[in-house]
Amino acid sequence: MPSDYSRQILLREVGAEGQAKLKDSRVLVVGAGGLGSPVLQYLAGAGVGTLGIVDADLLDPSNLHRQPLYSLEDVGRRKTDLAAAALRRLNPSVLIETHPLRFDADNALDLVRRYDVVIDCSDNFRAKFLINDAAVLAQKPAVFASVYQYEGQLQVYKPDTSHACLRCLWPQATADGIVGNCAEAGVLGPVPGAFGTLQALLALKILLNIDGQLEGELLLMDFMNFSAIKLKAPRRAQCRAPDCDLVRPPAREEAGVELRFGSLADARARGMEIIDIRSDEEVAVAIAAGRHIPMPALLANPGLLSPAALYLLVCTSGQRSLAAARDLRAAGIRAHSLARGLRGLDGID
Ligand SMILES: [Zn+2]
Repeated sequence: MPSDYSRQILLREVGAEGQAKLKDSRVLVVGAGGLGSPVLQYLAGAGVGTLGIVDADLLDPSNLHRQPLYSLEDVGRRKTDLAAAALRRLNPSVLIETHPLRFDADNALDLVRRYDVVIDCSDNFRAKFLINDAAVLAQKPAVFASVYQYEGQLQVYKPDTSHACLRCLWPQATADGIVGNCAEAGVLGPVPGAFGTLQALLALKILLNIDGQLEGELLLMDFMNFSAIKLKAPRRAQCRAPDCDLVRPPAREEAGVELRFGSLADARARGMEIIDIRSDEEVAVAIAAGRHIPMPALLANPGLLSPAALYLLVCTSGQRSLAAARDLRAAGIRAHSLARGLRGLDGID
């Protein structure tokens, strides 16, 4: 049975011409999680011709409450593969390109250049600013969302001057670990679901050139009291894409910050001290995997660690520990990050 887009083609703003435009479009989705699930499902359903999915993670059972694209039986499998299979069932005429890797400075620009629009469905600031810089340099539209517990915000970057980029609003990139992500702060599934749904809507509006794309505006929504406000978010004078004073080409990734171990005993055998940087709340329901210093406390006081020692920072997924290790290295501490986090170990010992 061929895909049937009749209910959206009925819209004056879409029509057969718009549908053909969608079929010829390529959208890159960075992160196949709580935001990425609805984005991918709605864009595949709408008949966007090619969807690129970037995600390095394996499905974890704790993902399922906010990522209805997946099933419990798929835990432990690669999310890009699972998402691609689910989307092909939803709409076999959509071409899915999987990129099972971490979106980083070495691949950001190359990936973004290959698509018409990039959608930020990441859960960390490092990725968001990388997406921003790549979008500005490549002159591609980007749709950003950030979620914190019951609230979040949406922003659209486009090369035309009515849109600010992320660095126009936050010239100093916000460091990970200062504001909690879902693993740290907790979230109810429908909250990222709602923001992801709005990102899908914005992506379709951009592709179809429909009005109302948050030009020069930041949309803040709070689902605790159901309030929404739009703030003016003008572009800075120094931001004249692609020659923006605030955007630099991504620097190459420093090799060797992340290390892989089957067990923490292997790391200790190599003379490393384990520092568990998870929050008090996370450690309360688990067991600290080593000396426990929550990430915000550690970054505020790098002097808690000795420049003479060798450290392995650990968290749940390896994302916060990587951000923290990079920060500590800048402060002269020999810190590494456990790749894939505690969840990637064969067992905690
Ligand atoms: Zn800017």
